[in-house]
Amino acid sequence: MKKYKYVWPHIDKKTKEAVIKQLSSGEISIYDRSGIFKSFENIFAKTYGKKYALLTSSGTAALHTAMVACNFQPNDEIICPAYTFFATVTPIFQTGAIPILCDANEDGNIDINKIEKLITKKTKAIIITHMWGQPCQIDKIKKICQHYKLKLIEDCSHAHGARYKNKLVGSVGDVSVFSLQGQKIITGGEGGILLTDDQEIYYRSLLFGHYNKRCKQEIDKKSPYHEYSTTGFGLKLRAHPLAMVIANEQFKNLSKWNKAKSKNASYLSSLLQDCKHIKLPHTDPNNKPSWYTYVIKIDSNKLKVTTEEFCNILIKRGIVDADKPGSTCPLNLLKLFQKPEFLFPQYKNLVKYKKGDFPIAENFFNNIIKLPIDVDQGKYYKNVLKKYSEIIKKTIKDFSSE
Ligand SMILES: *Cc1c(COP(=O)(O)O)cnc(C)c1O
Repeated sequence: MKKYKYVWPHIDKKTKEAVIKQLSSGEISIYDRSGIFKSFENIFAKTYGKKYALLTSSGTAALHTAMVACNFQPNDEIICPAYTFFATVTPIFQTGAIPILCDANEDGNIDINKIEKLITKKTKAIIITHMWGQPCQIDKIKKICQHYKLKLIEDCSHAHGARYKNKLVGSVGDVSVFSLQGQKIITGGEGGILLTDDQEIYYRSLLFGHYNKRCKQEIDKKSPYHEYSTTGFGLKLRAHPLAMVIANEQFKNLSKWNKAKSKNASYLSSLLQDCKHIKLPHTDPNNKPSWYTYVIKIDSNKLKVTTEEFCNILIKRGIVDADKPGSTCPLNLLKLFQKPEFLFPQYKNLVKYKKGDFPIAENFFNNIIKLPIDVDQGKYYKNVLKKYSEIIKKTIKDFSSE
């Protein structure tokens, strides 16, 4: 079999035609809530049962917006996952609030049993990421937030269409954010989107990066925020219409893709279920992951090989897309979380994490290998997954100490 290479995104004929149509219309900057912005925001908000949706230039910009919209202030404490892509947390440094990192559980998501111990009088919000598309237990996290009167921000950038107890992840938080960057399940190349039911959060989100026309159009004249419509907070974080045309077309495939990925992931799990020394993704029946990627965890104590070497062997043997994540690491391993004061002097002595602070997150990070899950449902792809499982089994056998 020819070596299979995972290609994402799938840009079909309809997407290309829609881009050409938008380009021909001449509308390549949109100043208010109209055109493709309006239609894509409407369908996204409707899908998630939310009142408001706001497109932004990136997922990072949407996260930054969410933090300002929730009124993060200097010295507020925000409980964040220790293990996530860093942009879930890094915009905090723009607000002066303090990231209080919380260790992961064995599956890589924030450990809900460790959250309450971190709550103090200064705690204002909890941020979670549905890591690699595996839903967090949002009902329990929401309860904690309600009990302590904390805002909940969901970073759903890995989890478009994922469900927990049949509820879409992103439908529970006070604000939810999705990246629409090129690798993400729904993508415009670059972009982001924010969802909320809360009018004040929405107004503040609008003012943060969508000044003038759109703010004048949407913020009630009786609201004190209306008077700031011309300038907003002074930044510009608008999306690009051509990118949003792409994302809007991709979004039409979401449930089809979710189903296909889910089938393929189950098939791969069934092929690998008897493997020793690796841990397969969690199969909580409450969970419908988005399968942004399929993560296997290597027991490197039992296998006489480092995870890095193991991954390189998989690649050499034909799983060319096997990947050991690098920059998506426990945040305490990043300079910005160890010594932020070189870039942000006001953080001196306030944030100083170090290697070893989050053993479970670090262990997870050190031992996982990512495999892509395609949306192809044909026989060819099934054979690809069979080949994957054979390569994985052979590699385990070669390095088993027993
Ligand atoms: C991609 C990603 C982001 C950042 O999104 P951009 O659109 O690249 O700015 C934030 N959080 C998570 C979990 C992501 O995967």
